[in-house]
Amino acid sequence: MIAIDLLNISEVTNGKLLGENLVINNIFTDTRAKDNSGLFIAIRGASFDAHNFISDAEACGASALLVEKECSSLLPQVVVKDTRQAMADIAKLVRKLSVAKFIGLTGSVGKTTVKEMIAHVLSQCGNTLATAGNFNNDIGVPLTLFRLTNEDKFAVIEMGANKPGDIRYTSNIVSPNVALITNVAAAHLEGFGDLQGVATAKGEIYQSLSKQDTAIVNIDDSFAQYWLNNITCNIVKFGLQPTADVTAINIHRNSNGGYSFELCIYDHSIEVNLKVPGKHNILNALACASACNAIGIETKKIASGLESFDGVSGRLQIHQIDNLLTIIDDTYNANYTSLAAGIDVLAEQNGQKILALGDMGELGQHSREYHYKAGQYAEQAGVDLLVTIGINSRIAQSAFANGGEHFETHQAMIEYLKQKSKNIKTTILMKGSRSAHMEKVVNAFLESP
Ligand code: ATP
Ligand code: MG
Repeated sequence: MIAIDLLNISEVTNGKLLGENLVINNIFTDTRAKDNSGLFIAIRGASFDAHNFISDAEACGASALLVEKECSSLLPQVVVKDTRQAMADIAKLVRKLSVAKFIGLTGSVGKTTVKEMIAHVLSQCGNTLATAGNFNNDIGVPLTLFRLTNEDKFAVIEMGANKPGDIRYTSNIVSPNVALITNVAAAHLEGFGDLQGVATAKGEIYQSLSKQDTAIVNIDDSFAQYWLNNITCNIVKFGLQPTADVTAINIHRNSNGGYSFELCIYDHSIEVNLKVPGKHNILNALACASACNAIGIETKKIASGLESFDGVSGRLQIHQIDNLLTIIDDTYNANYTSLAAGIDVLAEQNGQKILALGDMGELGQHSREYHYKAGQYAEQAGVDLLVTIGINSRIAQSAFANGGEHFETHQAMIEYLKQKSKNIKTTILMKGSRSAHMEKVVNAFLESP
């Protein structure tokens, strides 16, 4: 962490320091976390109040406290009105002290993939801080910034949203120099109503930019023009349309399943061979290239980073179990767009193609429609068998005529899949939202094929 002291903290949070001033080298909110030294911030949530864990924080190594009411402790404490807001204020201070270039990104699908791609490219060029896993909300973003060090040259920060205003909040903390929206899709629709609602909420990231900053816009997205009309800083357009500043031409699929293409960044071009599967990863690569180019990374470095990137666990990870069986693990999460991208990869495989699908969550009133479309899409793409679990996935089954089975338990699904893939060249795409726990099915195959 970039060191600050309790006086700095009380100043930016409008708080009151009780006790001696100390230098803070770490901040934590969870007493069960690994690194729990330094300042403990007591956050209140819907179902918990960390003010009840002050003695745990003291026991596990806290040197100071940030609280909403004075508590009986020998440690110095800063008392503030709202610890969540104070956390944001401290994160803003740390961000201001950092000399790194900041890339902020949001979007409906592909945030973590593109974030990891960018971090992979930038790590070749200097110390890079990137959001760990999915720490992309009002707590995760400040915690990420607290990990900044004075050595960091770059920071890649993922921002997620469940409702309007979420991205405004986190992007005001991050103040990115470069902001990117991967795309808009029917994800987390419950909180946004419709796709325009999603586009408006994601667009908040561009509104946080100043004149000298750069907005990276996916011009293949149907909301591109809407964003372009509202951006007042530098713009880089990526996509497969001829008007893109950063684009891909001469695209073809390699024998390893990844795509090769000529990456064109304005008037420079260079050959790129991706290891990660799927056509959608071309767009992810273009997003990554645009962001890296905007902060001055040379084209050669961008290309070599893209080529050595080998994906993120749970996102279309290919496991060759034996000569006959391939498992595609896409169980991290699911919505209609990412499922369609996964089905496209499945459709490119030889042999029997099976989709093992759990429910897609958070679709609100659109749930029926998207599960039905999922079944139709799988059928059109030539999937041979659709195997489902969960109430909503049953609807996908009803739209799929090629054959399949619905299951009540993961175990029953596993046994069926093992039997159906015996002695026949097969690829199984496993997919579902977090709550569907389709990784249980993947693990059953990895542990005992
Ligand atoms: P979350 O909202 O859960 O944080 P995310 O936006 O970070 O998700 P990823 O974790 O990168 O997205 O990927 C989620 C799913 O979307 C995976 O199944 C992945 O294969 C798929 N995916 C990634 N990029 C794209 C894309 N450009 N288009 C369609 N699907 C994609
Ligand atoms: Mg993510």
